[in-house]
Amino acid sequence: MSRRLKQRIEWRLRHHSLQFLLAVAGRPIRCAGCGRELFRALPFVGCDGRLKLLGAREVNVRVAFRGQDSLQFSHLELDSCPSPDRPWVR
Ligand SMILES: [Zn+2]
Repeated sequence: MSRRLKQRIEWRLRHHSLQFLLAVAGRPIRCAGCGRELFRALPFVGCDGRLKLLGAREVNVRVAFRGQDSLQFSHLELDSCPSPDRPWVR
């Protein structure tokens, strides 16, 4: 087995394992503006004390604090977030 094929198989196993984990245990993260689901994530605090969201790697979103202990997520591109101001967005 070539090294490249082995890397591709390992990447595919990790990717599908993560997708399965997110489908089973992940929580939907919704946009604060429109309520659409942005992505599914599994939050946890790492050993270094940082909050990590497993599943949020490839998603472009805007994050802001909402109060002292909660975060608010919203679409980064306004053309993805429908509102009465943007009737062309579906
Ligand atoms: Zn939105």
